[in-house]
Amino acid sequence: MQINIGSFLTKRAQHSPNMEALVIGGLRFTYKELNERSNRLANAMKSAGIEPGDRVAYLGLNETEFFDLYFGLGKLGAILVPVNFRLAPPEVLYIINNCEASKVVVGTDFFPVIDAIKGDLCTNSIYALGDSIPEWAQSYSDFLASGSPDEPVHVGGDDDTLTILYTSGTTGKPKGAELTHAGYFHEAVNLRATLGDVGTKMLMPLPLFHIGALAPVPHCVQFGMTMVFQRAFDPAEFLQLLATENISWFGSVPQVLMFLRSVPQFETFDWSSIRMALVYAAPVPVTLIKEFAEKGMNVRQLYGMTECTGPAAVIDADKAIVKAGSTGPAMFHCDIKLVDDKGEEVPTGELGELLLLTTHPMKGYWNNPEATASTIIDGWIHSGDMAKMDEDGYLYILDRKKDMIISGGENIYPAEVEDTLLSHPAIADVGVIGVQDEKWGEAVKAVIVLNKEQSLTQDELIEWCRDKLARFKTPKQVVFAEEIPRTPTGKILKRILRDQYNQ
Ligand code: ATP
Repeated sequence: MQINIGSFLTKRAQHSPNMEALVIGGLRFTYKELNERSNRLANAMKSAGIEPGDRVAYLGLNETEFFDLYFGLGKLGAILVPVNFRLAPPEVLYIINNCEASKVVVGTDFFPVIDAIKGDLCTNSIYALGDSIPEWAQSYSDFLASGSPDEPVHVGGDDDTLTILYTSGTTGKPKGAELTHAGYFHEAVNLRATLGDVGTKMLMPLPLFHIGALAPVPHCVQFGMTMVFQRAFDPAEFLQLLATENISWFGSVPQVLMFLRSVPQFETFDWSSIRMALVYAAPVPVTLIKEFAEKGMNVRQLYGMTECTGPAAVIDADKAIVKAGSTGPAMFHCDIKLVDDKGEEVPTGELGELLLLTTHPMKGYWNNPEATASTIIDGWIHSGDMAKMDEDGYLYILDRKKDMIISGGENIYPAEVEDTLLSHPAIADVGVIGVQDEKWGEAVKAVIVLNKEQSLTQDELIEWCRDKLARFKTPKQVVFAEEIPRTPTGKILKRILRDQYNQ
């Protein structure tokens, strides 16, 4: 029997037809209803000529239609390519053409993006969500309705690709990570084996083109949970959903937690019914973890990456505070090691590049054997992240290898400096980069967003850093900005920050 993620929905619908599967944008679906939608989609796609291995791109917010496509295309052995909706039109064009999508499904908010690139797209088969359909598209709802609700014959699975997720391109042109049916199965099992029973209702604020939002989906379906998705993150709605939907666990990124603090209800919010809160995708300020702990919420830091279909290490709830800053030990079905530039394992406590061995690696980068060969070597995924491990095997992620600053021969990881600066009461957000410096080679530059009605000068900040950071890590230059450019999951776009401020 092959592992096919589309079949997971079929099985769950057989076992728990009336269980609530999805709550999204005010709509609610049982597993039976969600499965029927995926059947309609699969049958309509088959009639429209979609074959196993064909790619269908999706550009839209978190919508029910995403689930039709993920499971429906899965049943056909076809591939879903969720596109980052924050990208500029030429970047969207690059991804759709790079994966040679046969069809594109587009949400109402993104009609202008497709309108701008439609002449250059590799396909003119476009389906639009909503009721006002542009002249260059067909109606997705009509298309869905044209498909039979009967279960289609399931095709493929195991090592066949189910999704191609393009990396956010913080490090260059996006690369399409091919994630397989077996990979999604194994990461779901890995989450369960490591996290245990986390209750039956998940809240997810992150966009589904990101593995941090998508990896929990097969986990929820396999283990019988209800998925509550925000169409797009909204902090006030997030707290309201936590309170009214009887949520047992949620996933998040540091920016989500930071934004929650701006909601008036945050101060008095009762976290006692939440069994688990995960935070991942970017360095997590220790101050943030401690702040939530004071409110009774032990936020658990998780480390993961697209190339391993998501999760790789997670801290246990009872260690979340005593070892705050750590992303915990390797997960149940994952091994980790830290190596130096020669590939030798580094001693405990020393810095090295993090390598991952897991039951759920990507198959490779789409059409990019060179990048695949330099990322997966002897089965180990080379993460490009620098980390330390303590004597208990707990991992501390410092930062991306390529973001390291070398100043006067000393290595500096921007995340550590950012973490320290964020503990300044006047600072709302910060991004740290290395800039050229005649004396030191590179010097630390901090781009700072102040909290409203706060003021701070460069000299005051440098003075404040004196007893908190080593001299070489203290910013030599400080600039104040309106915002820090970030990806939708809160990663700082260092490439853009460097372009803007490297002078
Ligand atoms: P690109 O490689 O193009 O920048 P990306 O950032 O989108 O792509 P993802 O797979 O989304 O790639 O993110 C994985 C990266 O996120 C990790 O390699 C690591 O740098 C960072 N990350 C994930 N979890 C954590 C964490 N808990 N702490 C620090 N960094 C993390």
